[in-house]
Amino acid sequence: MYQSFLIKYAEIAIKGKNRHLFEDALVSQICHALREVDGEFNVRKEQGRIYVEAESEFDYEETVEALQHVFGIVGICPVIMAQDEGFDALAQMVVAHVKEVYGDKSLTFKVDARRARKNYPMTSMEINAELGGRILDACPNMSVDVHDPDVMVHVEIRNQINIYSSEIPGPGGMPVGTNGRAMLLLSGGIDSPVAGYRMARRGVHISAIHYVSPPYTSDRAQEKVEQLCQELTPYCGNIAFFCVPFTEIQEAIKKYCPEEYFTVIMRRLMMEIAQKIAAKDNCLALITGESVGQVASQTMQAIACTDAVSKIPVFRPLIGSDKTEIVETARAIGTFETSTLPYEDCCTVFTPKHPKVRPSLEEVEKAQAKFDFTEMVDKAVAGTTMKVFELN
Ligand code: ATP
Ligand code: MG
Repeated sequence: MYQSFLIKYAEIAIKGKNRHLFEDALVSQICHALREVDGEFNVRKEQGRIYVEAESEFDYEETVEALQHVFGIVGICPVIMAQDEGFDALAQMVVAHVKEVYGDKSLTFKVDARRARKNYPMTSMEINAELGGRILDACPNMSVDVHDPDVMVHVEIRNQINIYSSEIPGPGGMPVGTNGRAMLLLSGGIDSPVAGYRMARRGVHISAIHYVSPPYTSDRAQEKVEQLCQELTPYCGNIAFFCVPFTEIQEAIKKYCPEEYFTVIMRRLMMEIAQKIAAKDNCLALITGESVGQVASQTMQAIACTDAVSKIPVFRPLIGSDKTEIVETARAIGTFETSTLPYEDCCTVFTPKHPKVRPSLEEVEKAQAKFDFTEMVDKAVAGTTMKVFELN
């Protein structure tokens, strides 16, 4: 029934010059998302609107699903677009639309007409009243409710005529790429993919970094993280994935540093490496999946010790979230199943029996100074491999 979609996006924050950037980024993200959908589409901006028009047969469900992954979209309205051929023709189309979609059920409705073209021979009020009357004639079981209607019939008179009466929710947020790049520390756990999703929803283009410690961690563990990257691409677009050889560093921590500081030192070295890779990849911040108090390395004291090594901001979008909320999001975005596959992460190798829960920075620096990690860090950076994950 529909050939086109009207895309709604939040406009409050995007006045002036930024509006163009926002809209262009949104158009480009929509085109990207539709690339893998069956059908040919034309995506265009017109008078402060974005339209997606199918130019061939297309899969409706797949199209809607792809659009529901594009950050910046607030609503997806399947729309009937037609040329203006006079009011009678318009009224016939509106009535046919209402009958076809709602089939004269006992629903309440309201017509909301808007004229972008003020030379149209009727006012919006007149159009509302006249169309309301014709719908009532054609669908006697329906009735008008102007305050809280079940169905809002939108009629827009612009260069063409738009008729739509439903809005499928989009993911909200801002188009990926409108707010710079950041490096996500991606483990195989539940939290970090959700953290990446949250920042991408704010328009941040994500790269990912993952630390592996073979032979303590298996190839399967790395493949699991790569699969998570792939699962994030419908939301995040292309993801550059960096894989850091971390075995030597972990063995050195175990050999030279006091056991109770093991985890916090490891996390500090992760941050140090992440910053160096971030600089090469033009990332302006780091992102982790930490949430306050969740484990020993996520007390405020431990976080302060980790933060102290980073010269760029460390974003922790889940800092105030409960695990149940994080799990809910992981399920909704489709990463939960992969995250709960049972492969070892390097964090779970050499976990101290009694980690220091409230370390001071001074203690930690002293414990870390038992060994000079500079060369090993440089070597890990040099040995880091990269591959790009794309939507498929
Ligand atoms: P997650 O579910 O994201 O693994 P977690 O609750 O298991 O989090 P930790 O294992 O302490 O917590 O890790 C905290 C954060 O450190 C992770 O959210 C992630 O951002 C980062 N991290 C942990 N392990 C790795 C790794 N092997 N590679 C990259 N980042 C990691
Ligand atoms: Mg983890």
